[in-house]
Amino acid sequence: MHVARLHGPRDVRLGREAVPVPVPGEALIRITTVGLCGSDLHWFETGRIGTTELADPLVLGHEAAGVVAVGPRRGERVVLEPAAPCGMCAPCRSGRAWLCSSGRFAGHTPQDGALREFMAWPADLLVPLPDAIEDPEAALLEPLGVALHALDLAGVDATTRAGVVGCGPVGLLIVRALRADGLVEIAACDPLANRLAAADASGATAFDGAGLSEIDVAFEASGEPDAVTTALRVVRPGGTVVLVGIAADDRTVLSASLARRKELTLVFARRMTAMDLPRAIRLVAGGQVDLGGLITHRFGLDDVALAFAALESRAGLKIVVEP
Ligand SMILES: [Zn+2]
Ligand SMILES: [Zn+2]
Repeated sequence: MHVARLHGPRDVRLGREAVPVPVPGEALIRITTVGLCGSDLHWFETGRIGTTELADPLVLGHEAAGVVAVGPRRGERVVLEPAAPCGMCAPCRSGRAWLCSSGRFAGHTPQDGALREFMAWPADLLVPLPDAIEDPEAALLEPLGVALHALDLAGVDATTRAGVVGCGPVGLLIVRALRADGLVEIAACDPLANRLAAADASGATAFDGAGLSEIDVAFEASGEPDAVTTALRVVRPGGTVVLVGIAADDRTVLSASLARRKELTLVFARRMTAMDLPRAIRLVAGGQVDLGGLITHRFGLDDVALAFAALESRAGLKIVVEP
């Protein structure tokens, strides 16, 4: 089978490898669609993310869907829950398995991800995909789960005045999830005109990053230092900022006086809970969240280098690879 491995910064190589053999409890999946994420861009550009460095050449890809290839579930369309928690640590045992630090995560060193034709993954982490959700939109379900988790951390309701700073795919999915929750006042900003237009089409009101100060909850979804500053500035005194983006150099810098004088609550978001992926599927299948217009580029696995170039250019929204 064909495999795309990251060997170092900007060094993705296509190769041929044996089809993986599932161990007991795992299923073999023929991967049909993989979304590229901002976290993949960090890996691609720097060969690291946060404090984790590339060890051996790594297969990226954690926003994946496919078809079970063998066994009793053969032919079933599934989306992958990319986090495989250890099940034994304190967070796992207390029902907060998404905070596990000793589990595996697809496409995060040392666990190979989905940018390949076949992948073995625990069968209980394969969520059935209804016919109502087609490929390649299924690649957006994991990021929608991340967005739903961010909303839960903030505790929004229909009267919340929300702001979204950074309108890449996760920011846009936060906007759409907020709309699904009945919010009508959603302000969104991004330095890129096409992303601002997409936020407008998703149900937000575009703003230029200045002039607002009455937001109850701001979601920072880019990881850029300027976006963190904007998020802090636009929330009202006593408001909440949820940091969803991943900082490029593992540092989040903020104005202490700005945050302190307004006595802001800062919330750090990590991935999603086990409930969020099934919830994302229900919301999309039920028509409450529309995934239309978010996928702007589709590439075959042979063109994975072009896919990363498109991701790096930020010219579009969601880039998907179809192995
Ligand atoms: Zn991601
Ligand atoms: Zn654990």
